[in-house]
Amino acid sequence: MNAEHPSEIFSGRPTWAEIRLDYLAHNYQCLRQYVGPTVQVMAMVKANAYGHGAVTCARHLEQACQADWFGVATIEEGIELREAGIDAPILCLGGFWHGQEQALLHHHITPTVFRLDMLATLHQAAAETGATVPVHLKFDTGMGRLGFQPGETEHCLAMLAHSPHLRVEGILTHFAAADDPAKNEFTALQIERYQDILNRFQRSGIQPRFHHLANSAGTHAHRAAHGNLVRIGGLLYGTAHDMTSPVIPMLPVKPVLALHSQIILVKTVDAGSSLGYGCTFITTRTSQIATIPIGYADGVSRTHSNRGEVLVHGRRVPVVGRISMDLTLIDVTEVEGATCGDQVTLIGQQATEEISAEEYARSGGTIGLEATTSLSYRVPRRYRKF
Ligand SMILES: *Cc1c(COP(=O)(O)O)cnc(C)c1O
Repeated sequence: MNAEHPSEIFSGRPTWAEIRLDYLAHNYQCLRQYVGPTVQVMAMVKANAYGHGAVTCARHLEQACQADWFGVATIEEGIELREAGIDAPILCLGGFWHGQEQALLHHHITPTVFRLDMLATLHQAAAETGATVPVHLKFDTGMGRLGFQPGETEHCLAMLAHSPHLRVEGILTHFAAADDPAKNEFTALQIERYQDILNRFQRSGIQPRFHHLANSAGTHAHRAAHGNLVRIGGLLYGTAHDMTSPVIPMLPVKPVLALHSQIILVKTVDAGSSLGYGCTFITTRTSQIATIPIGYADGVSRTHSNRGEVLVHGRRVPVVGRISMDLTLIDVTEVEGATCGDQVTLIGQQATEEISAEEYARSGGTIGLEATTSLSYRVPRRYRKF
């Protein structure tokens, strides 16, 4: 595929995300190297692989890298991967809802458990089929979101002692601020609490195969907290500069996703013309204004209105006026010869200029992960393997 000539590859609306599967595999290998041979790497593919396309990304990671694990947020996401033929272990970090017990057993999706009643329902479901279910127990050491409280450890152990159909395969926790050097003491406290819980399990004869704490930020900044499995999202997609420690050299990961569109109309407008809904932009000179077919229904947040920049002919040009549902206006006065069919890059590179997902996100008031994850169903994902 030649991205320089999008008009030749599209018969539909010329707005698309380009996903570099070769970079995805590169990033996975790079993480594998960083954590070393005794630590497995879970590729987080929840939320449609952060917008990159869960099935295609997981397939590629399985085939090109023999990925160790995949992480999802819901049982539905796990089933989608299984139905697409993914064989590697899948951990569902979000637990499961009442009624999904048989489905997760059937599809061999490993549940994360964070309440005692979940242990009970799961044990009952497993007993009915005669199976033994591997579970990962999540403890809340400071994130305050999901997990048993450390004080519930004894209850957990007591319950497990009477649950022969459950096998504790993993114990995990999740960091709240692993990217922030100013919060290193808090992260150290989380690690200490986690270690105490793990010790308590081991003392009672439970040796979980996997101990895991670290997301991208934790893996990058806290090498002592890798356990023997790390759960990586942001770094895998190469969009983690705004959520990893600024004081530690970045891993050489590459951004996997680029977002492109095309000029579909150019017009010359007089100075003093208003542009877009609410007339929020008034031109101060005779201007060349281009329309591009992308808007908030595609996932380009309205917060980019009058703020963002895009690339045309390798140059930065401003977004003018409000982002609307399907269309966005850009000022191409400075770009000589800008015309219909020219490629517009919202995230990615043109010549020597680049707008990273992180930069794009910043102008929309968020982080790179939210920016890629928000891209809607309306944006076709075009995959490249080299
Ligand atoms: C999403 C998620 C991760 C991955 O986080 P990144 O910051 O994208 O690396 C890890 N662990 C849990 C529990 C998660 O929900």
